[in-house]
Amino acid sequence: MNFKDYDMIVVGSGFAGATVAQICAANKGENVLVIEKRGHVAGNCYDEYDKHGIMIHKYGPHIFHTNSKEVHDYLSNFTQWYDYSHEVVAKVGDEYLPVPFNLNTLREVYGEKKSEELRGKLIEKYGYATKVPILELRKSDDPEICAIAEFVYENIFLKYTMKQWGQKPEEIDPAVTGRVPVLISDDNRYFQDLYQGMPLEGYTKLVENMLKNETITTVLNTDVKDIMMLKDGKVLINWSRISLENVLEGAATLDLDGATDEYVPFEGQFIFTGPTDELLDLKYGRLPYRTLRFDFEYIDEPEYQPRAVVNYTVSEDFTRITEFKKLTGQDTPGTTIMREYPMSYEAKDGQIPYYAIMNEKNNANYRQYADEIAKYPNVFLLGRLAEYKYYNIDAIVLKAMELAETL
Ligand code: FAD
Ligand code: UDP
Repeated sequence: MNFKDYDMIVVGSGFAGATVAQICAANKGENVLVIEKRGHVAGNCYDEYDKHGIMIHKYGPHIFHTNSKEVHDYLSNFTQWYDYSHEVVAKVGDEYLPVPFNLNTLREVYGEKKSEELRGKLIEKYGYATKVPILELRKSDDPEICAIAEFVYENIFLKYTMKQWGQKPEEIDPAVTGRVPVLISDDNRYFQDLYQGMPLEGYTKLVENMLKNETITTVLNTDVKDIMMLKDGKVLINWSRISLENVLEGAATLDLDGATDEYVPFEGQFIFTGPTDELLDLKYGRLPYRTLRFDFEYIDEPEYQPRAVVNYTVSEDFTRITEFKKLTGQDTPGTTIMREYPMSYEAKDGQIPYYAIMNEKNNANYRQYADEIAKYPNVFLLGRLAEYKYYNIDAIVLKAMELAETL
């Protein structure tokens, strides 16, 4: 496709970018160019087989879960699912306790007799199958419920949150710890969503299938900042700076015939799913993020731990260990595990900003960037980085579907 024929440029090939590109191409017949900085598609959901043949998630464990039939049906066009319900345990001393803290955890901690009494009390107060954020439970005026809340706070939340965010649970946005509320039920699953599972052939394959369209061209290994600039309300692109070697095979090609070494206006829609502060050259300062270091280890044993994810909520420097074969049900002689070490994002080489640190100050800082971008009528910010939000896969797919409809 000749570069002059693109109706839309999408920066980033994670779920945000892939969804907008796919819908605009397939439903609206638009010609879409996807530009991706990394050497692969699927963003942080990228997975691959390691040298031992085990499917690993390079940027942290990803489990798909949603209550949205619309999102589930949409993604099911591109994958079949491995039926997996995620369960997590916390290693506390020598014990593995179900997380989120639920009525089974209560029994393990308090024993049969005492837990029966407390169970009745919790159900009476909050109702069965309800979810109570830990910061809410701590406010209870019942001393026994307060004692449970203190146990959960100390043994599940405090140290894990200190490792993950460098702050105490009460110092961070309550929505964050609210993602893992105390569950007044016997359900050991981490998510209670109607649909959950893993893409049968992996997330990378799923996203590749989304982008396999005769009007989508994907270019890898290309930082959009090296080929574009924003000026006076206009998106300017220097097409000659795109290297044809980086065009992903299997979909539309790219024809740069007629491109010269100059910045020319791009009048189509420009969807950006990377960090918004970088798009504007950090002019209002760098937005704060947390990053992670992932340490992989292969173990020559069939199994390492009792669940796919074990959270280390009171000990160790890492937050959790993932054992990948337990996510995908792979049957292999050995096993690959990964430890996650959170730290402050310094924009050092190779570091990736994973988690926006949402608070009043940082959100206001983000607003400055978003307001500036609003002066560019054909630029749209979408995604976990671009919107400085804590989106799950389903939420960002839904947001992208909505944006694609309105464009
Ligand atoms: P990303 O996946 O980050 O994609 C953005 C893309 O833009 C990247 O590929 C990036 O390389 C590219 N890009 C950035 N800047 C540029 C540039 N200048 N030029 C070109 N390309 C650029 N969600 C769940 O639902 N379930 C889970 O279990 C789950 N686990 C998670 C675990 C971790 C450790 C993390 C960090 C997140 C997890 N999530 C999970 C959230 C999930 O990763 C996000 O919802 C999803 O990846 C968001 O997609 P996105 O497209 O917005 O962002
Ligand atoms: N959390 C915790 N202990 C746990 C699990 C979660 O303290 O065992 C807190 C922690 O602050 C974490 C937040 O709850 O950042 C949200 O957890 P979630 O598992 O949703 O985080 P993610 O998978 O997105 O990293």
